[in-house]
Amino acid sequence: MKKSDIEKYRQVLVAKLEQHLGSAKRKVRAATARIDSRAIDDIAQAENDRELLSRGAASDNKVAAAIARAIARIDHGTYGICLGCEEEMPKKRLDAVPWAALCVPCKDQEGNGKK
Ligand SMILES: [Zn+2]
Repeated sequence: MKKSDIEKYRQVLVAKLEQHLGSAKRKVRAATARIDSRAIDDIAQAENDRELLSRGAASDNKVAAAIARAIARIDHGTYGICLGCEEEMPKKRLDAVPWAALCVPCKDQEGNGKK
């Protein structure tokens, strides 16, 4: 995936995350701002922020947690790769659900209770 595309999705995801997190909003903005600033020499601190972000999101709602995990995948360079079949997901899928972790066939399988 092109870097410009990934940046576009990141912006969508961060905006969505803020939207989903009412009370935790300020905390998330601070954390994502720190993740965004690429002048991080302290990687451990960045990991900490991400964990805090995921945990805070999880207590809020599932979508927010999924969004936080998607942002983490961007940071890890694995965004857009299906966690099921490890194929690159179609852009159409990511445009519809930018935080999708599974492609449509894998998601359908999961829905059927199969693995
Ligand atoms: Zn898949």
